[in-house]
Amino acid sequence: MDVQKIMASLEAKHPGEKEYLQAVHEVLESVHDVYNQHPEFAKAKIIERIVEPDRIHTFRVDWVDDKGEVQSNLGYRVQFNAAIGPYKGGIRFHKAVNPSMLKFLGFEQTFKNALTTLPMGGAKGGSDFDPTGKSDAEIMRFCQAFMLELWKYIGPDTDVPAGDVGVGGREIGYMYGMYKKLAHEYNTGVLTGKGINWGGSLIRPEATGYGALYFVDHMLKKLGRDIKGQRVVVSGFGNVAWGASEKATQLGAKVIGLSGPDGCVEVPGGMTQEMIDYLLELRASNRNIVAPFAEKFAKESKFTAGKKAWVIPCDIALPCAFQNELDGDDAKTLIANGVKLVAEVSNMGCTPEAIKAFQDAKLPFAPGKAVNAGGVATSGLEMTQNAAHLSWTSEEVDAKLHQIMESIHNACLKYGQEEGYINYVKGANIAGFMKVAHAMLDQGVI
Ligand code: GLU
Repeated sequence: MDVQKIMASLEAKHPGEKEYLQAVHEVLESVHDVYNQHPEFAKAKIIERIVEPDRIHTFRVDWVDDKGEVQSNLGYRVQFNAAIGPYKGGIRFHKAVNPSMLKFLGFEQTFKNALTTLPMGGAKGGSDFDPTGKSDAEIMRFCQAFMLELWKYIGPDTDVPAGDVGVGGREIGYMYGMYKKLAHEYNTGVLTGKGINWGGSLIRPEATGYGALYFVDHMLKKLGRDIKGQRVVVSGFGNVAWGASEKATQLGAKVIGLSGPDGCVEVPGGMTQEMIDYLLELRASNRNIVAPFAEKFAKESKFTAGKKAWVIPCDIALPCAFQNELDGDDAKTLIANGVKLVAEVSNMGCTPEAIKAFQDAKLPFAPGKAVNAGGVATSGLEMTQNAAHLSWTSEEVDAKLHQIMESIHNACLKYGQEEGYINYVKGANIAGFMKVAHAMLDQGVI
């Protein structure tokens, strides 16, 4: 495989699709040695096929806001790869959503889902709709209008969307309500992340953050270290940062900082359960800022406007917000401040420069597609419960999530061992790639 040649051809075909090209480049760099040991992959043009989505649905979403004004957004569903199961992946509502972002996310999702050990293909969808400042009624009308188009392309055995940035339980509820009406079909398996009373799974809301901490715990154990007493910093204040903060605290670590687009908050004494729960209120407020956190907990915290969380000295850094949120300069700051481990909980949370800085410093670093796979894995467990028309206890789901995170960690170890260093990026990419590539090979040229 000639990585430069493939990248040049993709750049020519998809000019300006920055995030997508970045994600593909990272995987190609990781897998090219293994790929070259398998001439059957080249013969079946696996790499040329695996980097392109199966198809992209693009549609207009028209709706009426509270002032009675007509609004028009764009909606997408990128069905990336179905070699190992039905398309599966979240829906993102964010003003910056575009085909490049959703293609990168669908590509990542394909390998992430392969790592979960469950039979799920990769997909991603979303809209450039900005939920910031929208009323509940506006959110509902938008979700309904979005589903008016999306329902044609999805189904419990075809494509199963879920939440992502800007889409949580409330949005899934509104979309599911509309789906049922349109499809005249009441199969709860069509979406995951549903409410617990109507087909949702226990632990699904917490799963991304919990799974991430189980993974981090394995990384530390492998190094002979304990998570107890470690100082953790998270970015973001959504569902993912909430679950990660809660589990980190339960495991005995101290969450001493968080951040949002408006700045960062230091909590030197560590976040309490009340503070952690407040993260969900912040998110539900649709204001997209963390300053109110520092106002509410004025005695215990300090807000610095315009700064990222990475300026706060810590042992463990957990990006939990958005792609490329931690860049090369942030990595240098963290390293200079003595960070001991970095794990991406957001998808592609670190830039290539940041990853290189961590790897050059031989600092344990793990990528989102391994660390945050507990979210989609638990979605897979929700699908299993829906298909069987039953619900498991939280202990059962949590135990399965534990097993899955351990097996992902083992897969990373299997393919990521280097001289005195575990390259989790390489490990996760090769493990995910091998599974999807073999499935494509087995199923012929289709
Ligand atoms: N959006 C999450 C992710 O990035 C979850 C997807 C899902 O549950 O389908 O993996």
